[in-house]
Amino acid sequence: MAHRNNHFNWHVLQTGSLPLRPDGMIHHRWDHRCTSVLIWPYGERIARDNAVLTDPCFTDAGYSDAAVELKELGVYFEDIGYVFVTHLHADHMLHLPYDVPAPRFRPLRPGEVEPLAGLTTVPVPGHHALQLALMFTAPDERAIWVVGDGVLDEEWLRAWGFYWPNGYTQSEIVETWFSVARILGGADVVVPGHGAPIVITAELVRDLLATFPQAPHAELCPEVADALRARLAGLEGA
Ligand SMILES: [Zn+2]
Ligand SMILES: [Zn+2]
Repeated sequence: MAHRNNHFNWHVLQTGSLPLRPDGMIHHRWDHRCTSVLIWPYGERIARDNAVLTDPCFTDAGYSDAAVELKELGVYFEDIGYVFVTHLHADHMLHLPYDVPAPRFRPLRPGEVEPLAGLTTVPVPGHHALQLALMFTAPDERAIWVVGDGVLDEEWLRAWGFYWPNGYTQSEIVETWFSVARILGGADVVVPGHGAPIVITAELVRDLLATFPQAPHAELCPEVADALRARLAGLEGA
């Protein structure tokens, strides 16, 4: 039986940004782009059969930055065989600048590719009904969760905000908070849909617990606060 690697390296290739802020401000000079991460087994060289790129939607500027990051790792886009899309929104699906040759990426179905068998998914619906988080353990034993728009970025998380231009229903918003609770219950580091990685600390969870009552429809999902309290106890006990 082939060796199953249970630890993965990860490297952010494109740090996402979102011009629309939770308070309604719009930063017109900011790129609307998602966060994309390269993941491959610890102790192995990046190759077509063992490396996956999450949410590979690159803007022109994001692609240039990603190419520099890849060069530092000693590889090219052509060395990556798989892509994983957290949810089917256009700003997360495969996109490269028009003058870049079409790559031969295959979609990753977690569990089906042996070198990447240690990657698992968990549903985090709300923002999108079929939203998935991709989870793995880093070499330092931290649990990394790539959650797409399950969390937009740290500021949106702290504001208990959701992407309101999509026009969510009450039940979708409540589902979003349950997903946030699931994410914060399990992750040590959250890679959000449109921002830099977020380290889950006792301070962050304490702040979120304090502000949760102001979240829209918080009264319909008190279990979310219970989950945050349980996580906080774990973090404070650690
Ligand atoms: Zn989305
Ligand atoms: Zn998005």
